[in-house]
Amino acid sequence: MSDSLSAPQLLRIRAKLEAMVADQSNPLRSEQAAAALERMRNGEFGVCVECGDEITPARLAAKPEARLCLDCQTLKDEEDS
Ligand SMILES: [Zn+2]
Repeated sequence: MSDSLSAPQLLRIRAKLEAMVADQSNPLRSEQAAAALERMRNGEFGVCVECGDEITPARLAAKPEARLCLDCQTLKDEEDS
């Protein structure tokens, strides 16, 4: 469990995720946000699902639905292209 996000930060991120889930204009993001909320309930939020490293608070603030750290995301983007 990441301890680098403060409680107010987490609350703000959770509110953002809940708004994303409710936003039906972007179903994929809505789904990713729901998964992120699920990880938050499980205490797994903010940890990369690929390598288990912490996702930086700055990245989470910008992209709260992120499930990969920047390194893994970069690798994945390279694979996908
Ligand atoms: Zn990673």
